Amino acid sequence: MHKTAVIVGAGPAGLTAAYELLQRSAVRPIVFEADRQVGGISKTINYRGNRMDLGGHRFFSKSDWVMKWWQNVLPIAAGGDQGLDLAYQGRHTHVVPHTRADADADRVMLVRSRLSRIFYRRRFFDYPLKLSWATLRNLGPLYTAQVSVSYFNARLAPRTPEATLEDFLVNRFGDKLYRTFFKDYTEKVWGVPCSEISAEWGAQRIKGLSITKAIVHALTKPFRAASDTRQKGTETSLIERFLYPKFGPGQMWEEVAGRVTDGGGEVHLQHQVIELHQKNGRVESVDVRDLRTGEVRRQACDFLISTMPVKELARLLQPTDPEVLRIAGALPYRDFMTAGLLVRRMRPTGGNTAASGMPPDNWIYIQEPDVKLGRLQIFNNWSPYLVADPQTIWLGLEYFCNEGDELWSMKDTSFLEFASGELAKIGLIDREDVLDGTVVRVPKAYPAYFGEYREIGRVRAFLDNCPNVFPVGRNGMHRYNNQDHSMLAAKAAVDCIVEGHSDKSKIWLVNAEDEYHEVASSPDREPEVATSAAGAGQA
Ligand SMILES: Cc1cc2nc3c(=O)[nH]c(=O)nc-3n(C[C@H](O)[C@H](O)[C@H](O)COP(=O)(O)OP(=O)(O)OC[C@H]3O[C@@H](n4cnc5c(N)ncnc54)[C@H](O)[C@@H]3O)c2cc1C
Repeated sequence: MHKTAVIVGAGPAGLTAAYELLQRSAVRPIVFEADRQVGGISKTINYRGNRMDLGGHRFFSKSDWVMKWWQNVLPIAAGGDQGLDLAYQGRHTHVVPHTRADADADRVMLVRSRLSRIFYRRRFFDYPLKLSWATLRNLGPLYTAQVSVSYFNARLAPRTPEATLEDFLVNRFGDKLYRTFFKDYTEKVWGVPCSEISAEWGAQRIKGLSITKAIVHALTKPFRAASDTRQKGTETSLIERFLYPKFGPGQMWEEVAGRVTDGGGEVHLQHQVIELHQKNGRVESVDVRDLRTGEVRRQACDFLISTMPVKELARLLQPTDPEVLRIAGALPYRDFMTAGLLVRRMRPTGGNTAASGMPPDNWIYIQEPDVKLGRLQIFNNWSPYLVADPQTIWLGLEYFCNEGDELWSMKDTSFLEFASGELAKIGLIDREDVLDGTVVRVPKAYPAYFGEYREIGRVRAFLDNCPNVFPVGRNGMHRYNNQDHSMLAAKAAVDCIVEGHSDKSKIWLVNAEDEYHEVASSPDREPEVATSAAGAGQA
């Protein structure tokens, strides 16, 4: 009899676990996914032929394993680019486009150049902030002098102890720059003051990045090879090229789901895991509700790999210690809403905008304090294949909110009005150019590092004592994981199953505080939503 692993969630972590189990063991994976489609937060929404990426997902990793895994599923598109040099602790790997004559031209990843800038005071600033004439002109000489003085003050007399995110940012960027580029934006994103967020958050997301490094990067840029993406060993905020599935990130996960079912696994959409049944401390079966019919069925299992939010997993496991339940139940999240807006043209903003007024950026950080808009995606620049009509511009207006708050509860039509009004207010579009729009809400997009998060160790200790339960992924571990971290955690869980033990320390080491488990001395990657200028980030 084959053993069975129930996998909760068909996001990157769940599908990686399923695929790896099929490749490396005789354990049969059965994936239950509550959503109508696979991919989790990394899914692609198709709205009338226009595809939306929730957040804009760059595919890059310091892990060779992940990079190869992705290319095994979707090779790099043939032709065009000559290849990528990936640097890793002095070692370089060259990755080339595929040359398979029989390959499907649509099932590929593209190599994309990244441009993202900051929009502030109705002007564009480089991201990461560069010591360029444009920046000085935008800020003005007096302001620049104040920023420099404040930066050197912070370096000479850093705040100790460095307890909060505010301390962390002021110590690295100076008070003036912190207030200009970090404070408002971070608070917009997280909904809480930087002084209430743990410094650990900064350490995890902004490791190794400093103004000095940003300046050095800017000065040495002309001497670096154009094809060098310098992934490993380079602060990830400075990475300039990445891989991207032709039809958005969801394409990767749809492809993987297909391989899982072809390989004998199961993927059940619109099936929510609602109950866990235990015997002698082991989960023996799960109850699953078919969300289309309401029917509940029981599925026996030998292992449970969970990517559901830690708070839900803990509740379903019914810990005897009420503190574990309280801490898990109070873990904070930040939620996220996107207005997909199809526009005829944009207002020209100068520089190298297209004839349609479309800026060249993949995304733009909106730092303007007079709007709630956090970030603007220009999907055409992620992949032209995301857009049904190339004559139109397909935008994603991203808002950070809390489930149930005023924004979240707005009717879709009102939210679209509001969002397009904000974009017009900051001068990027004229409202009459809006052709169509849709709204997507993403609950628990960001597991947050404040409040009860400080006590998460107790929840982890409890989960570590459930021998056949493996929490992996982003919300599954309440960890600020990108796709690659989620995948590596899933791989580590499969390692435990294949090796026949339940020591989960390797899972928790992935994307741990001070070191990326493969590259102990290397900093972490760029934030999905930067708090700004020199690359301090979040999301
Ligand atoms: C704005 C933004 C930008 C990002 N940018 C990048 C980027 O550039 N590069 C990158 O690599 N990563 C990026 N990420 C991170 C990436 O989206 C996540 O790391 C990844 O999707 C996490 O995968 P996961 O499988 O751990 O979790 P998820 O994607 O959250 O998937 C979990 C799945 O479990 C399902 N589920 C939950 N509970 C149940 C239940 N009880 N029963 C059944 N199903 C359930 C959910 O419906 C969901 O589909 C970004 C994220 C955000 C929010």
